[in-house]
Amino acid sequence: MKTVNTQQPVIRQVAIVGSGLAGLTAARRLQEAGTEVTVFEKSRGPGGRLAAKRVTGGSADIGAQYFTIRNPRFREFLHQHAGEDVFAPWQGRLVYETATGATEPFHSALRYVGVPRMTAISRALAEGLTLHAGVRIARMDRDSAGSWTLTDTAGEMFGPFDGVIVTAPPAQAYDLLHDSELSGLAAAIEPHLAGMQACWTVVAHYPGSLGLGYQGVQSRDPVLGWAANNSSKPGRDGDGEWWVLHGTPEWSHQNRDLSGEDVTRQLLTAFTRVCSVSAEPDELVSHRWLYARSVTAAGPGHLTDHRLAVGIVGDWLQGGRVEGAFDSAESLIRDWREAGLVTR
Ligand SMILES: Cc1cc2nc3c(=O)[nH]c(=O)nc-3n(C[C@H](O)[C@H](O)[C@H](O)COP(=O)(O)OP(=O)(O)OC[C@H]3O[C@@H](n4cnc5c(N)ncnc54)[C@H](O)[C@@H]3O)c2cc1C
Repeated sequence: MKTVNTQQPVIRQVAIVGSGLAGLTAARRLQEAGTEVTVFEKSRGPGGRLAAKRVTGGSADIGAQYFTIRNPRFREFLHQHAGEDVFAPWQGRLVYETATGATEPFHSALRYVGVPRMTAISRALAEGLTLHAGVRIARMDRDSAGSWTLTDTAGEMFGPFDGVIVTAPPAQAYDLLHDSELSGLAAAIEPHLAGMQACWTVVAHYPGSLGLGYQGVQSRDPVLGWAANNSSKPGRDGDGEWWVLHGTPEWSHQNRDLSGEDVTRQLLTAFTRVCSVSAEPDELVSHRWLYARSVTAAGPGHLTDHRLAVGIVGDWLQGGRVEGAFDSAESLIRDWREAGLVTR
């Protein structure tokens, strides 16, 4: 949706809802362009699905497992804004299970991770930004002069802003826009609502090495979709091995209301079945992602209404995945530059 209006504003103060990679990319790009940026994040810290959970002796990546850097601008961006030290290739042997039950290696490619955890990247990108963490934006209202005011779930108001960028997953973005009576933008999100898959995650610590011969496996099991040795990623210290187990989208969706305990039991049973693990874990953590992965292969890149100075970005508008989140934010900023909403 690209509504061009001759009286469109120049955005000098922007609010960004969400501090995942899409939000942080947009924030950094707009800050570079001289725009005053304020980021709102409902969680305790930045990162979104670039997520890590504290565990004994360190942390484990519970969201994105690795990311690609196909777009050279993404590499430049990470070097310039996050620094060279906060990401590195993961050299672990990754395999997938074939229909016959054999395992084959992933196609050869560089796969990157944050160091020492995925959130190292988002922490670095958030440095120097005005970020209100623990603030869930519930409404956005525009006055007759075109200024936006954002209201959080506690009733606190923030503003004025000339423009707003929403980076939440589609269901949350839809609710925000719908509740703000922005029906045109909400309608543009509707086709994407069914495209997000759930994912139950369990992190299990084993005191010794499991000796599996691979560090990540994509399985064909109906319960366990992925298992990865988090301890094999660069910069992860600590004894033993932390394994991250992801439920399949179908199983995670069907069991979304199960308790963490039940989920843990079922995923561990599946891990034993798929990987012939006989050792017992001595520490366990579970996490439910209602909106984990986008199933759309390609997308429009971003959605925007120039007259309202509102943009919507996120991985789900650019094929899913970490790099898609970056590309989506870039796509919006390019559009806003071309439209004159951002001047530099
Ligand atoms: C289990 C799992 C495994 C994955 N594996 C991979 C992988 O191996 N490789 C890969 O490339 N990608 C993977 N992904 C996908 C990848 O994590 C995402 O594509 C990417 O991180 C999305 O970034 P984003 O900025 O678009 O969205 P998000 O990271 O979801 O950021 C949106 C942010 O908005 C915040 N927010 C939402 N609503 C509000 C509100 N009302 N007010 C304030 N804040 C709000 C959220 O808290 C969140 O921080 C995985 C994801 C999951 C969950």
